[in-house]
Amino acid sequence: MDNTTKIVDRFGREHKYLRISLTERCNLRCFYCMPEEGVKLREKSCFMTSEEVIELAEKFVALGVTKIRLTGGEPLIKKDIGNILSQLSKLPVELGITTNGVLVDKYIDTFKKAGIKSVNVSLDSLKEDRFNAISRRNYFNRIKSNIDLLIENDFNVKVNVVLIKDVNDDEITDFIDWSIIKPIEVRFIEFMPFDGNKWNWDKLVSNKKILETVHSHYGEDYVEKIKDKKNDTTRSYRIKKAKGSFGIISSMTNPFCDTCNRIRLTADGKIRNCLFSNSEVDLLGALRRKQNVEQLILQSIYNKEKQRGGINNFETSDFVLKDDRSMVTIGG
Ligand code: SAM
Ligand code: SF4
Repeated sequence: MDNTTKIVDRFGREHKYLRISLTERCNLRCFYCMPEEGVKLREKSCFMTSEEVIELAEKFVALGVTKIRLTGGEPLIKKDIGNILSQLSKLPVELGITTNGVLVDKYIDTFKKAGIKSVNVSLDSLKEDRFNAISRRNYFNRIKSNIDLLIENDFNVKVNVVLIKDVNDDEITDFIDWSIIKPIEVRFIEFMPFDGNKWNWDKLVSNKKILETVHSHYGEDYVEKIKDKKNDTTRSYRIKKAKGSFGIISSMTNPFCDTCNRIRLTADGKIRNCLFSNSEVDLLGALRRKQNVEQLILQSIYNKEKQRGGINNFETSDFVLKDDRSMVTIGG
């Protein structure tokens, strides 16, 4: 595979990793991500069809993308997901998916056929009642057994946990204990502010706080740092002799913008070059008008801000993301 990419920004960062959101809809209602009533429904024609997803993905790959992850909303509720996976599997890319895990049992064979090796599953609590309250639905047991199913079938499983103070921050060591007995990578994600999710700095459980908790519980000698991969957003650790590992994604207190190689394509076909940016470029419209999509991709990434979408007042306590998108409509 050619290892060069044409998608480079003005700071020299090469962009080889594309995250495609397949839908804004979801079968859960995690309170930090999605309004209780769901997202405002829009005409079906606002969103990419499966053919358009494939067509745009092919253009990105031709420009040098080597890794594609499907996300959402919940990607597994996209009609035609089987076909999308099978078409994308023909491209020379590493294919992955981020899911809430509810429908994994239905699609595990499709994952195998598509050559998917890595599945990220979000699970914010190991306590059934608490998880069901966070997600406002009752799928805890199904998700938990689907994680076991993925492990039994040799998938590389990462479990995403958004930590929120006084909601689930008392479970840090429970999750790490789980990574000691199972070959999973638990990833603690700092809570991020998006439209309507009632975020504030006090609710954030920082990278520093997580490490303090871990060191005092297990003892510093038992916590090993694992070498981070280039462009990885996770800082990884392992408890000595554990089967799995854990990591921290500290987008808020310790961002990883310097090595960012990500491009996000929203379900309505907009390129959004940073989670925190609120400028978007409409690729789907351009594709439908038969305009030069490649040129738009290159321009959009070239103009990417150096850090966090150009937000400078990040550390002030009154910071709010002025945007009309909740996380579920951006594609996490
Ligand atoms: N539905 C799939 C899932 O839950 O994994 C994929 C989409 S979801 C938006 C992707 C990731 O974003 C999940 O791990 C979720 O926990 C995370 N996420 C959503 N809202 C967030 C927030 N406000 N702060 C930090 N992470 C968030
Ligand atoms: Fe749905 Fe994932 Fe958002 Fe939860 S985090 S509401 S599962 S999109």
